[in-house]
Amino acid sequence: MATYDVIVVGLGGMGGSAAYHLAARGRRVLGLEKFEPVHRRGSSHGGSRIIRQAYFEDPAYVPLLRRAYELWEKLEHDVGQDIMSLTGGLFVGPADSLTFAGSLRAAREWDLPHEILDADELRRRFPTFSPRPDEVAFFEAKAGFVRPEATVAAHHRLAARHGADLRYEEPVLRWVALPGGGVRVTTPRGSYSADRLVLCPGAWAPRLLSDLGLPITVERQVMHWFQPRDGVAAFEPGRHPIYIHEDGGGTQIYGFPAIDGPEGGAKVAFFRRGRPCDPETVDRQVHPEEIQDMRDHLATVLPTLAGRFLTAATCMYTLTPDHHFVIGPHPEHPQVSVACGFSGHGFKFVPVVGEILADLATTGTTAHPVRLFDPRREYR
Ligand SMILES: Cc1cc2nc3c(=O)[nH]c(=O)nc-3n(C[C@H](O)[C@H](O)[C@H](O)COP(=O)(O)OP(=O)(O)OC[C@H]3O[C@@H](n4cnc5c(N)ncnc54)[C@H](O)[C@@H]3O)c2cc1C
Repeated sequence: MATYDVIVVGLGGMGGSAAYHLAARGRRVLGLEKFEPVHRRGSSHGGSRIIRQAYFEDPAYVPLLRRAYELWEKLEHDVGQDIMSLTGGLFVGPADSLTFAGSLRAAREWDLPHEILDADELRRRFPTFSPRPDEVAFFEAKAGFVRPEATVAAHHRLAARHGADLRYEEPVLRWVALPGGGVRVTTPRGSYSADRLVLCPGAWAPRLLSDLGLPITVERQVMHWFQPRDGVAAFEPGRHPIYIHEDGGGTQIYGFPAIDGPEGGAKVAFFRRGRPCDPETVDRQVHPEEIQDMRDHLATVLPTLAGRFLTAATCMYTLTPDHHFVIGPHPEHPQVSVACGFSGHGFKFVPVVGEILADLATTGTTAHPVRLFDPRREYR
């Protein structure tokens, strides 16, 4: 007899959500996390994450985003806390850039409300931007940000409220799928058995899922906070949207309004310009040349943003070659589900990924469109 119905390994963004959805469905859940709750050593920290619906990566994500937005609202309601803020979002670049053209494509395919601004209109409405004449902007009022630490904490709290047994600083050393069904998981404190296993190891996926041989690379990323040169007024959330800017060479930066008051500054980062790393040995220091690199880039895009440097932090992306997620049953062991490879854009999906994982662990299938994320696909 299994003690638990489901064991969830990794209680970061995805695992926390899965533990909550499973516990809310009445499953007996054991959650095992390597570090303390809401830590800063994985991929779900740094104060803010962009959310948006006109998805330039692929319009196939839009139905999942619509469901995610519903669940973000439900989460806020269930914990009685603000987690999501819709500030509007600007997606700026040359007309043929992925950031602009891809957003427009998704909006047209799914009939999503938006506005198109030429360089002059962009400068007039959002004077912190200094676009080149050939740049255009896609504006989505429904874009904004969510708070990652508050999200993880909220899911843990709700999961525990529904009876989940969440254990911290208890890393999983091994897991095995038992021949007759069920699983056994071993930690330094003992071993546990259950009918189902859900693996959400983030940047540790190459270790915990080594048997799958997924073509995953882990990259160190840097987030920067600056005090804008002319003060935060122009960057206040009521006036300033979140943004992604792509230059003619395909380099993307993204950033946020000054969401933590006058002293907190505004966060900005390069999207996928990291160095390969190992989560156990990653360099968590940010170096002066990295800060200078961001300053140099901002000089032409958002010239007043890079005033006084406030702070910086590292985070990790877990990348697949096609930048689509890996979500599905383990190809050899149907009692095991996996969710990893979120490729730097997973957080906005956290609530719906939890729902999908709960579907997989309870019924073996899901009604959500997840074909794009098949662990066995040909990665290109
Ligand atoms: C700088 C940065 C900016 C980002 N910006 C955005 C954004 O704007 N919008 C967006 O949608 N997405 C964004 N993302 C991506 C998003 O944050 C990630 O896709 C998401 O957080 C991944 O969640 P996860 O649960 O897979 O990983 P994590 O939250 O890291 O969780 C994995 C957990 O597994 C635990 N674990 C690992 N191995 C074991 C083990 N053996 N035993 C027990 N526990 C284990 C880890 O300790 C960790 O807690 C960003 C990511 C970064 C780094």
